[in-house]
Amino acid sequence: MLVNPAYTSQTCSEWRLCDSRNRESQADFECKQCHMSMNADLNAANNILKRGIEPSPRLGTKPSTPERSQTPNPPIAGRTLPP
Ligand SMILES: [Zn+2]
Repeated sequence: MLVNPAYTSQTCSEWRLCDSRNRESQADFECKQCHMSMNADLNAANNILKRGIEPSPRLGTKPSTPERSQTPNPPIAGRTLPP
C-alpha cells in the first residue's frame, strides 16, 4: 500500500484540512478549523489510514498506451497533394 505521507502531519484527520499552522509543535496537533487537538503522530496516522482506505484517482489508472495503427491515414478522396 503506497501512501504519500506528505502533509499528513499537518492535515486535520477530521476536516482533511492541510494547514501548516495546525502543527503547533512536534508532538501536538490542533486544527484551526474544528479545534480538534490530538497527538500529532496519531493525527498523521489517521490521515495515512484514511488515505489508504479511500481510493485514489491516481491509483488503478494505468498509463494506457493507445493502440495506434501503424498504417498511415488513408488518402482522402478528392484531395490532391500540391506538386
Ligand atoms: Zn479539524
